[in-house]
Amino acid sequence: GSADLECDVVVIGGGPGGYSAAFRAADLGLKVIVVERYATLGGVCLNVGCIPSKALLHVAAVMDEVSHMADLGVDFGAPVVNIDKLRGHKEKVIGKLTGGLAAMAKMRKVTTVRGYANFVGANHLEVEETSGTAQEKTGSKKVIAFKRAIIAAGSQAVRLPFMPNDPRVVDSTGALELKEVPKRMLILGGGIIGLEMGTVYSTLGARLDVVEMMDGLMQGADRDLVKIWQKMNAKRFDNIMLKTKTVSARALPEGIEVTFAPAEEGGTAPAPQVYDLVLQAVGRTPNGKKISAEKAGVAVTDRGFINVDIQMRTNVPHIFAIGDIVGQPMLAHKAVHEAHVAAEVIAGELQGNKELAAAAFNARVIPSVAYTDPEVAWVGLTEDQAKAQGIKVKKGLFPWTASGRAIANGRDEGVTKLLFDDSPEAHGHGKILGGGMVGTHAGDMIGEIALAIEMGADAVDIGKTIHPHPTLGESIGMAAEIAHGSCTDVP
Ligand code: FAD
Repeated sequence: GSADLECDVVVIGGGPGGYSAAFRAADLGLKVIVVERYATLGGVCLNVGCIPSKALLHVAAVMDEVSHMADLGVDFGAPVVNIDKLRGHKEKVIGKLTGGLAAMAKMRKVTTVRGYANFVGANHLEVEETSGTAQEKTGSKKVIAFKRAIIAAGSQAVRLPFMPNDPRVVDSTGALELKEVPKRMLILGGGIIGLEMGTVYSTLGARLDVVEMMDGLMQGADRDLVKIWQKMNAKRFDNIMLKTKTVSARALPEGIEVTFAPAEEGGTAPAPQVYDLVLQAVGRTPNGKKISAEKAGVAVTDRGFINVDIQMRTNVPHIFAIGDIVGQPMLAHKAVHEAHVAAEVIAGELQGNKELAAAAFNARVIPSVAYTDPEVAWVGLTEDQAKAQGIKVKKGLFPWTASGRAIANGRDEGVTKLLFDDSPEAHGHGKILGGGMVGTHAGDMIGEIALAIEMGADAVDIGKTIHPHPTLGESIGMAAEIAHGSCTDVP
């Protein structure tokens, strides 16, 4: 035909979804091409998301820890921050990981084509090639013929239409550039991304305000956990504006002036405020409308999402979609698991392997983590969700004030909370339905609770599992014992 390149599978996008799908498909013996407009693989997560934010959050956590140390008898004095060096550290981290991905792609003989991909038919993509750091189009185009396609084009930050076009208004990508530390910073949106970036900037010296439409920060997390997080972080904020929306903003020489309004009728809102930096973190929008999906017959929702079945298949049977573009939660670990399903189904179909072709995404739960200080991590049902759904639960709440390790660390503010099915049908042996933790290293421990849910563990299974002492992870076993030992609430 008229194609410049052909393959078994073409993958649009080189993020965690895209590269994971490409690598799995190649490992299964398929000829794979990845199209990515940026110079490196890794997508949002490695370049401007998960990884650079954690590189900075690690530094912030150490700084905060060191500042506590004077109380424990060792005073390191005031930190001296070299922001250029700090930015350099973050860049190095990204470089190591994206370099690793490039090597892995090469090893697997995955071809990468750099440019913007658009469908031109049900079995053809056109790529407008790009170069440089600004993604300039080079003018040259390539047509790729494919048997199967996986759409992994991801998402981008939502911009509020009334925000002035000004360098003092940034999204998470701009905030990660870490140009300078503002005196007063506004975080628009009290979700994980905003609060993580706020943590970095406030540890470096910024005073924070946060504005959130809903009645609490970190929507989706258990309120018992968020309450503790908020208490521990109170000193970072001048003003936490809940049930408040931002209605306008203008650029003044002295800063960005932002005007607020109550989110509900009858509420009140603070007077306009002037900020040195405004971070827009009000959510992410999928890139579904930017790939000419209609040319391949792939349906895209009004909001730009692409609906898929549990095999990650779109309405067009030979085209699949994964990651942020298929819906919430927009998390890298979800994208990776979906990627493996799509690649396996495709390999199974092309190679006549029925077992592989039957692969499906049926994770019971997907954990979430706010890598703040302390961290907040949760998975499965929360107490509020159980209540709303009329599910009776038995609760095990273990305060870290009873954890030897947490006390030794000087960080006993944490809590581990587990919820077990307490419906009559469970006969007192209900399975774990959800759990969460607030405290240092909570994110590193939540995987155990996810595993317990996936395996259908009950409180005895978890409580009788011997956890090493003294560890923070012990708190999971203790919380289960508490739930098993009593049906009543513990303080
Ligand atoms: P993306 O990573 O968005 O990748 C899509 C890729 O497709 C991009 O590289 C894009 O350039 C490319 N692309 C799009 N359209 C085209 C086209 N037409 N042609 C060619 N290429 C195209 N998740 C976590 O799990 N943990 C975290 O700690 C975490 N922290 C985050 C912090 C921040 C600041 C942000 C913004 C996000 C964070 N996330 C985190 C979310 C995570 O980054 C995403 O869920 C993840 O990157 C989604 O992967 P994806 O493969 O679906 O898409």
